[in-house]
Amino acid sequence: MSIEITLLGTGSPLPSADRAGPSTLVRTGDATVLVDCGRGVVMRLAAAGVLPIGLSAVLLTHLHSDHITDLNDVITTQWVMSTEPTPLRIIGPRGTAQVVDAVLSMLERDMGYRHAHHADLQHPPTLSVTEVDPGNSFALGSTTISVHRTDHRPVEPTVGYRVEHDGAVAALAGDSVPCPELDAMCAGVDIYVQTVIRDDLAALVPSERLHDICDYHSTVEQAAQTAARAGVGTLVMTHYVPAPAPGAEDEWLTLAAAHFDGDIVIGPDLTKVTTG
Ligand SMILES: [Zn+2]
Ligand SMILES: [Zn+2]
Repeated sequence: MSIEITLLGTGSPLPSADRAGPSTLVRTGDATVLVDCGRGVVMRLAAAGVLPIGLSAVLLTHLHSDHITDLNDVITTQWVMSTEPTPLRIIGPRGTAQVVDAVLSMLERDMGYRHAHHADLQHPPTLSVTEVDPGNSFALGSTTISVHRTDHRPVEPTVGYRVEHDGAVAALAGDSVPCPELDAMCAGVDIYVQTVIRDDLAALVPSERLHDICDYHSTVEQAAQTAARAGVGTLVMTHYVPAPAPGAEDEWLTLAAAHFDGDIVIGPDLTKVTTG
């Protein structure tokens, strides 16, 4: 195995009975990385056979609530299931430390209850938080990850991650409109994961708030155009707005295929794609 991608949550802020919030699992030969922590992420991780204590790192693309809402659950579950202080690495754009500090303050009373009740759980959650900027890179074992600017303005900063292992490369874009930095991050990758919206369907809903979201996300067509420009192998779409009903995904594939002739993947939560 070189790189395996599992779409843990393919939903969005709009509640869905079938789709968890945005989060993606990236597994290489020696790293297990969670990208974003949307609604229900720990349940989906369990379904993928991974517990928070098994994560090499949590990467955040940006600090929009739908991408971080269950960070609390990842931190708590990792903490209560660890038998000794075990650092959980959290890596994200500037502002991540403030969010993590706020999560820890929210958990303060819970920590007190558990310290008082469990003689063998006297350590607090052990976190290692790193804020990264575009241009940074780091290694998890023999897996290398570089950080790239994306464009989700007015949300700033936002980043995407390019993951390389054993000759395989994947790009995790997060929320972004097309931009030169996104093209550069995706250049020649085997798998490009992009959050997408359908602006044609959003336009049909009489909601100004829903219309607003169209100007800072890639549409299905734009994601396919980025994939074509960057020469990627497989385009993987996630974060569906509005979420297609079961069986209605083909329309999304057809729209993307008009702009990109490589492999295109869309599916339910826990859809898995592997390089090579
Ligand atoms: Zn966002
Ligand atoms: Zn989002």
